[in-house]
Amino acid sequence: MSTTETAIASAEAHSAHNYHPLPVVVATADGAWMTDVEGRRYLDMLAGYSALNFGHGNRRLLDAAKAQLERVTLTSRAFHHDRFADFCTRLAELCGMEMVLPMNTGAEAVETAVKTARKWGYRVKGVPDGMAKIIVASDNFHGRTTTIISFSTDHEARADFGPYTPGFEIVPYGDLTALREAMTENTVAVLLEPIQGEAGVLVPPPGYLPGVRELTRERNVLFIADEIQSGLGRTGKTFACEHEGVVPDMYVLGKALGGGVVPVSAVVSSAAVLGIYRPGEHGSTFGGNPLACAVALEVVAMLRTGEYQQRAAELGEHLHQELGLLVGGGAVEAVRGHGLWAGVDIDPARGTGREISERLMDRRVLVKDTHGSTIRIAPPLVISKEDLDWGLEQLREVLRG
Ligand SMILES: *Cc1c(COP(=O)(O)O)cnc(C)c1O
Repeated sequence: MSTTETAIASAEAHSAHNYHPLPVVVATADGAWMTDVEGRRYLDMLAGYSALNFGHGNRRLLDAAKAQLERVTLTSRAFHHDRFADFCTRLAELCGMEMVLPMNTGAEAVETAVKTARKWGYRVKGVPDGMAKIIVASDNFHGRTTTIISFSTDHEARADFGPYTPGFEIVPYGDLTALREAMTENTVAVLLEPIQGEAGVLVPPPGYLPGVRELTRERNVLFIADEIQSGLGRTGKTFACEHEGVVPDMYVLGKALGGGVVPVSAVVSSAAVLGIYRPGEHGSTFGGNPLACAVALEVVAMLRTGEYQQRAAELGEHLHQELGLLVGGGAVEAVRGHGLWAGVDIDPARGTGREISERLMDRRVLVKDTHGSTIRIAPPLVISKEDLDWGLEQLREVLRG
């Protein structure tokens, strides 16, 4: 057996099969490229589902992490540490908001958003105890905890994991009328991805997000934007909501916030919302730890210049122009997205998304399928135009073959 086959066989024997990875075993990575255990180089066109927006081994982020490793890595929130205030202040500033509640994974931040909205509903809005409702969209992806999968519409994500957490109402994504009709006086929040990543990079119809903003404001309901995948530069803006000129009441952030180095997530909102917490009501041992804060602080500093957003916008325009040329040629049915983020629906006759991904892997390009014959393209924002063009050429070759 090859080194690759041996590594995959042991992984299959000794790890739960909750993923179906492409048969590549990565050993090292730099920028937009990964090298496997046999020395083959691959262009990373997934970027850890946007956790690697700034590329592999980003110098600034590694330096920030290394410096912090030598100082202090963990204190718990039982004590203050000297990176915490800066991180919260700078992140709140970047978001144009006032307060931050740091956690680790995206799912934890979504859980935090749910808990915050409920508590706000009872304490501030005056919803009767136990009656709070949160409205979510069909085909959402917000994470994998028992509460979050309770409001998923994905059979695989839900089946056999019940009983489910009550208190959620699911309406079709992009449908304002359905949202209006679902609202009651007990609705505390609307939780949405401004662009649905896992669903296949679905962009809602123009006017939808502004409509949600208006409706939630009228009804005294919190608008929570899950920007864990869409935020922090991916779409050519700091937040995908900006494409529609919308400012939600709360951002849920994760993935790229940790710079691809450590898991960092956060809920960011106003003092009127996050100010409801009292000591003991919520927490996390690792949330807001010194190493996480040092790395995320550097991420925020990098985003503050706007250069990554601009790069994503420029290269993204090129990406969508090139992908657009493939639509109608028979091989590609539709392309969606913004910036360096695209969902590409391939003609099912050419293969499943998985098969297309495997053929791209043979040509040294790594992408991830979503549903059916859709693949998702989301390279690190640091990718060069030449590398992006080379990756696109491999896609054209695969579709030709
Ligand atoms: C990835 C993701 C999550 C969950 O993040 P984890 O870190 O995997 O828990 C939640 N929402 C969106 C939109 C995501 O893309």
